[in-house]
Amino acid sequence: AKAAGRGRFAIFGRHMDEVLQARREMERDLRAAVENRKEIETVYQPVYDAGTGQLSGVEALARWRHPQKGVIGPDVFIPLAEELGLIQPLGQIVLHNACETVARYDGLKLAINASLLELHAASYPIHILSTLAQFQINPQRLEIEITESQQLDGSRISERTIGVLRQAGVRFAIDDFGAGYSSFGRLQDLHVDRIKIDKSFIDALGQTGSGAVIEAMISMAHAKGLQTTAEGVETEEQSRLLRLAGCDQLQGYLLSRPLAGEALHRLLAGGPVV
Ligand code: C2E
Ligand code: CA
Ligand code: CA
Ligand code: CA
Repeated sequence: AKAAGRGRFAIFGRHMDEVLQARREMERDLRAAVENRKEIETVYQPVYDAGTGQLSGVEALARWRHPQKGVIGPDVFIPLAEELGLIQPLGQIVLHNACETVARYDGLKLAINASLLELHAASYPIHILSTLAQFQINPQRLEIEITESQQLDGSRISERTIGVLRQAGVRFAIDDFGAGYSSFGRLQDLHVDRIKIDKSFIDALGQTGSGAVIEAMISMAHAKGLQTTAEGVETEEQSRLLRLAGCDQLQGYLLSRPLAGEALHRLLAGGPVV
């Protein structure tokens, strides 16, 4: 029994080595990707006005085109970038790509995602505003979606950052609303303009009682003067119920998947997207 135990341990140990090795390679590769800037790509998911069905803007989403592993999603590399202290330069690459892509479309709204870690950097507002200025994009076209991935204290710092950007006309949204630490209480301290109702609530639509929850969220948001966007809309039925509940904007695979820059240009030129 003892020998078998040691055997298992040896196998476990070798497996751990491989896991650690893979992790170190991933860290090294992400550092290189942020350094060379070429592997970080940005895709754009359209957002539509629920009332008119018109395109109202796009949300920029990061992708990592790894030279050997192919496209890696942000759910994998954003947390790693946060850990490695790379989230600031990464966010700057995404913003730069996005500004370059949307600059030519007057008035098209752009949303970007930011983690609270990014907002804690004192230089954050300067970076945002100077990039917008570089591409001659009015700050009023930008909305920053805050994903509260960690329960961070020190909201005073982000409040100040948000204040500076709001003063310049930038708007803010709480992402994944209802899923995490965000709450209506927190909304009041943060001074946001919009909530993005988490996909889990949209998935539940059509089940008993779930429509009432969404309706309550939307009317509370409206009572506070906030706009509402539903994310992850996949079916006609969800779309119908959301419009009935008074949701302002819809986003999801039903309307459009995230598009590469070229496909976005074709969509906005009125041609076939794929
Ligand atoms: P998110 O901001 O909540 O973005 C929505 C995610 O759902 C995106 O995944 C999008 O591709 C996906 N999605 C959109 N519509 C549908 C749908 O109808 N069905 C389903 N199943 N999925 C849908 P993605 O692109 O993998 O992004 C994941 C998360 O990574 C984002 O969640 C966001 O929190 C984060 N993220 C993405 N780009 C950035 C970035 O540049 N900076 C930061 N800090 N975070 C980012
Ligand atoms: Ca988002
Ligand atoms: Ca999110
Ligand atoms: Ca989400």
